[in-house]
Amino acid sequence: MFDHPSYDAHEGVHMFQDAASGLRAIIAVHSTARGPAAGGCRMWNYGTGEAMLKDALRLSQGMSYKNAMADIPLGGGKSVIWGNARTDKSPELFRAFGRAVHSLQGQYTTAEDVGVSVADMAIVREETPYVAGLDQGDAASGDPSPVTAKGIYLGLLETAKRAFGSDDLTGRTVAVQGVGHVGGYLCDHLAGAGAKLVIADIDQAALEAVARRTGATIVEPDAIYDADADIFAPCALGAVVNEQTLERFRFKAIAGGANNQLVVPEMGELLRRKGILYAPDYVINGGGIINVAAEISGNYSRDWVDAKLVRLVETLGEVLDEALSTDTPTNEVADRIARERIAAAT
Ligand code: NAD
Repeated sequence: MFDHPSYDAHEGVHMFQDAASGLRAIIAVHSTARGPAAGGCRMWNYGTGEAMLKDALRLSQGMSYKNAMADIPLGGGKSVIWGNARTDKSPELFRAFGRAVHSLQGQYTTAEDVGVSVADMAIVREETPYVAGLDQGDAASGDPSPVTAKGIYLGLLETAKRAFGSDDLTGRTVAVQGVGHVGGYLCDHLAGAGAKLVIADIDQAALEAVARRTGATIVEPDAIYDADADIFAPCALGAVVNEQTLERFRFKAIAGGANNQLVVPEMGELLRRKGILYAPDYVINGGGIINVAAEISGNYSRDWVDAKLVRLVETLGEVLDEALSTDTPTNEVADRIARERIAAAT
């Protein structure tokens, strides 16, 4: 473990196996310097245990950075369950996972991530209070996507201000990849601000619903990279900024909600050289975890969430300004600030 390329002085990496339910899970606690670790639970059919471990290590480190940039009193952690989210789920599996979370005695709080639903988390809640993203209960905050999308919209305006000298979106075109929870709400904000939209998804019904509401133009999934648009808002998959797609981009800015948009961190420098202003993903998409943090506090307050969101968008602006004035990739500036904030709390 200590030699693993993705091991970043994680405080704890815990493996769980439950023969009765078939649970195989890893909970990685990267840092509790700023508070108890928080981050979602991903259920994925990994090819190997090594791939699962790598995901847990990288995702938990990412949560430390995201929570630090959102300036919430939480550290970073993440859990992964090995299995097919469509065929391998059972109440017993999530109860066993809940007991695993509970064994860490609050060092880690879980929530939904890819493959895991609010209903799954309700089962986890039967075994442990260290769970968020619930839709029942006093502090329940439910689906974080509207808050995530609002943060991305405000962050996109900050990015536009620096890329175009104005945050007026009238007549500007935004290419939105993925119109699911986050992308759908984002399109509503953008259309309301007068932007023209080009959208792509693999879900035809979602596309048609958004196009009906916003007048967006629909393109084939792969054609989104060639869209004649000012801003690209990836809201579906990771690794969409890579050497192949970069050659096709005519965008001047990237501001979207997907996690891990850069296939490798070095893409940040290539974007900079091409004159594309990139809003680092884990900064601009921090609205959802702010909402979850409000729930974890046990005293959900919409005003607190809104104030944190405003501050997050200011932080994004500071990252972009520093990057532009020092000719540094935006992701490098964000990483440095996140590491400093974590170190300051250690
Ligand atoms: P979602 O599943 O609701 O939406 C994703 C959409 O992308 C779906 O409509 C899906 O059909 C589409 N999609 C899948 N493959 C595609 C492809 N090849 N081309 C185009 N579209 C494709 O998920 P979401 O909650 O909206 O999250 C979107 C992204 O934002 C994810 O990367 C997620 O990790 C990230 N994120 C979400 C939140 C949140 O609050 N939900 C917070 C932070 C980050």
